[in-house]
Amino acid sequence: MTLETSIEYVKGIGPERAKLIKNVLGISTVEDLLHFYPIRYIDKNKIYKIGNLQESNIEIQLRGKITQVQEIHNGKIKRLTAKFNDDTGSMDLVWFQYSKWLKEQLPVNREVFIFGKINVFNNQFSMPHPEIEIDENREKDNRLKPIYPGSEKLTKRGLNQKFFQVILRNICKEIPTLIHENLPDYLIQSMKFLSRQDTYLNIHFPENNEFLTKANQRLKFEESFFFQLGFGLKKAHHKTKSQGNPFPIVGDYFTDFYEKHLPFELTNAQKRVLKEIRLDMKKPIQMNRLLQGDVGSGKTMVALLTMLIALDNGFQSCIMAPTEILAQQHYNGIKDLLKETSIKVSLLTGSVKASARKIIHEELENGELAILVGTHAVLEDKVRFKNLGLAIIDEQHRFGVAQRAKLWAKNKIPPHILVMTATPIPRTLAMSFYSDLDVSVIDEMPVGRKPIITAHRREKDRTFVYNFCRDEIRKGRQIYFVYPLIEESETLDYKNLMEGLEYVMQSFSEYNVAMLHGRMKPDEKDTAMNYFASGKAEIMVATTVIEVGVNVPNASVMVIESAERFGLSQLHQLRGRVGRGAEQSYCILMTSDKLSTESRTRIKTMTETNDGFKISEVDMQLRGPGDILGTQQSGVVDFKKLDLVNDAVIIKNTKKIVEKILEADPLLSRPDHQIIKNYYLQFYKGKNKWSKIS
Ligand code: ADP
Ligand code: MG
Repeated sequence: MTLETSIEYVKGIGPERAKLIKNVLGISTVEDLLHFYPIRYIDKNKIYKIGNLQESNIEIQLRGKITQVQEIHNGKIKRLTAKFNDDTGSMDLVWFQYSKWLKEQLPVNREVFIFGKINVFNNQFSMPHPEIEIDENREKDNRLKPIYPGSEKLTKRGLNQKFFQVILRNICKEIPTLIHENLPDYLIQSMKFLSRQDTYLNIHFPENNEFLTKANQRLKFEESFFFQLGFGLKKAHHKTKSQGNPFPIVGDYFTDFYEKHLPFELTNAQKRVLKEIRLDMKKPIQMNRLLQGDVGSGKTMVALLTMLIALDNGFQSCIMAPTEILAQQHYNGIKDLLKETSIKVSLLTGSVKASARKIIHEELENGELAILVGTHAVLEDKVRFKNLGLAIIDEQHRFGVAQRAKLWAKNKIPPHILVMTATPIPRTLAMSFYSDLDVSVIDEMPVGRKPIITAHRREKDRTFVYNFCRDEIRKGRQIYFVYPLIEESETLDYKNLMEGLEYVMQSFSEYNVAMLHGRMKPDEKDTAMNYFASGKAEIMVATTVIEVGVNVPNASVMVIESAERFGLSQLHQLRGRVGRGAEQSYCILMTSDKLSTESRTRIKTMTETNDGFKISEVDMQLRGPGDILGTQQSGVVDFKKLDLVNDAVIIKNTKKIVEKILEADPLLSRPDHQIIKNYYLQFYKGKNKWSKIS
């Protein structure tokens, strides 16, 4: 037997059952079986007493005697019952499906142990389909008994707990030939790990709780370790192999702009991040950097200054945004900042007309155009650059990995890549998800920003809220009203929005109201945006299309309707649309009176903090890591034991250990590291589904 042996050949399984197991559990090899970890364990040393039972729905073991077996017929329905007694009381055992064999073989009036889940019915405890062990046949080992993730489909066909326990017990006997050490001695010593063989034995049949904990620790460590090692190796490989255009100088374009046109002093964080980017781009190696910064932290200016460095070195740049509005806004902003320079900027989106598009294509190819701002349209094959040196992607996780790979191909030597994200992600996720990117963080807001005040209000407070809004408008401020629109096609939400619009227009009849939603045509959206951004409309009623990037500094109040329907990160993104100017800003979360516990946690978190990283931690605890990154990258969190929510410490430690190992021995050539290298090459390489993240 080897790890690759098909389970069909495992004693007790055979082709029929192998097929079933593969279909239901996705298990096809001996290795898969070894990784089929129990969901919990029963302590066989612990014997419950009927007289002391308090809760139902738990798996327990009892010791006593079976009596009074009888078949009950009720029309077509047949079942088998028996009494079970211990020295403290009696309860019913029930079988809804059973064979004649079972009925005849029940060990009546003998000392037995029974296992099973306790039910309560009419205040009486009972146990359906118990597993029975006769005292004298009982295995004399006191290890914990594993309970595997099962399914009704399997149980019905006889593949019950007992079945898996027997199969795994047999496989565990082969552990000495199946399982080989994959960590060096010094690590096992310093981490006080079990050997790898003992780990697998104890994860299936723990000697006691202490060994179980140790087995779990090691398995989590291994998952984290080899995962991080993979990224560490790739990163090292990238750094030595991946060619990039060096940008050695900072020239006139940058200096001129910095000295004459910069509208504000950069924050220290912006300066630091810019320096990190500069150092990267100096080298003849492709930059692959993630810029994380909360909404409003000033990433756009960093992007612009980075593009000016590219230009100083004779290269073109592009900046790509996920929506047309956002691209437009970047374009307007950048154009405005560059208005007193000779630098040429154009906007390319799906709605740019063919004639204008043709000019852009030409100017890109002959190098006249220095900066291209756009949406996905930039990725089209027809868009060719003379020499693209830098590609910036804003609001990163809306773009897929494949799309980013397309950018690489836009130049013979791939452009430097700067990915900007305003969605702070929990540190554990960043550590695993972004481990092949270098990360820069803007962790400081521009001076003079006042933290946004967030309040939770209910329907009964509406008049109060509206009066507050009116006061703010009188002070010269502008207001957003945001309605949930989960899917642009949801008719109900659309109706909701229209009713909201009408209601707002009635309540604020003395003011102008603009409206923005995803079903509008691009030019309608522009008109609406301009109506509001120019200050002609005091109020904007909108859906979550304004979530990303929209920048109207004078808008200082945001009322979010049905706030309980939004996710945390979305609420945080939305809130980032206010608090962009010098005025005190407010975010008012309107909800119905009754809230689920989870909604309440979300709303409470929002009112308590403005810190995007804290919010993302709570979000991950509520939704789990998979949903945070979206389905697109869900493979990322495909760990069996490691839990990104609760194992932050392990992840942090492994990262440190991996870094230390690779620093001392980047190619893993030391004799004591062969064991790691071989295991990695054999089992892990190629399992990172998203090896090329950008
Ligand atoms: P984000 O990081 O969300 O993309 P932006 O780049 O849109 O943030 O910046 C938000 C606002 O802050 C913009 O109006 C921008 O002009 C302004 N801003 C950026 N950096 C600074 C700074 N150092 N000092 C003052 N205002 C700044
Ligand atoms: Mg932005």
